Amino acid sequence: LGHTASEPGSRARGSSPSLREPRYRVVLLGDPGVGKTSLVNLFAGVQERDLLEQHGGAAYERRLTVDGEETTLVVLDTWEPEQRGEESQRRSHCLQIGNAYIIVYSVTDRDSFESASELRIQLRRARQAEDIPIILVGNKTDLVRCREVSEEEGQACAAVFDCKFIETSAALQHNVAELFEGVVRQIRLRQGGKKS
Ligand code: GDP
Repeated sequence: LGHTASEPGSRARGSSPSLREPRYRVVLLGDPGVGKTSLVNLFAGVQERDLLEQHGGAAYERRLTVDGEETTLVVLDTWEPEQRGEESQRRSHCLQIGNAYIIVYSVTDRDSFESASELRIQLRRARQAEDIPIILVGNKTDLVRCREVSEEEGQACAAVFDCKFIETSAALQHNVAELFEGVVRQIRLRQGGKKS
């Protein structure tokens, strides 16, 4: 139990040359408009982007080398806003399938920051016994004058929720590579040296 989500390789069709190379699913969560698609587009790059029609939405696959080791990340950008009174199957599916989660809010939108906390709670409820890496991301730091959530608040929230924290600007491409490298490191830490 709990290992289905960390089984490398089985879900995403793709061009990985080696079945032994670790492959992880990372799911983006967050309110509409906070920058999830912008972040994942930067991660994927226009050329390398591989749009998969599984999971009912967009998946982007890329190999990246972190600390000298290659990993394939499949990033899912399929989160949808809650429909009133409707428990979306896709939402609960999203909460089940990730090996790691990126919860994004916009530093210019306090409501999105509050949603991020709720998402963290939902995730904990959905995956109770599991120690899943979660990165809290405050995006749109370039919009200095519109900032509603300070970096300190973001850090404090991450500390309470026991997750990593980073601020990014998709517009300036600031800290985006660091974000995805951080995800890989967090996954590896949890794997405790268990490699392919
Ligand atoms: P999503 O709904 O969470 O996927 O958000 P999108 O990636 O579609 O972004 C929503 C809007 O915010 C778009 O107009 C983006 O161009 C803009 N946006 C995303 N990230 C940034 C950022 O870091 N800075 C600024 N200024 N705008 C951003």
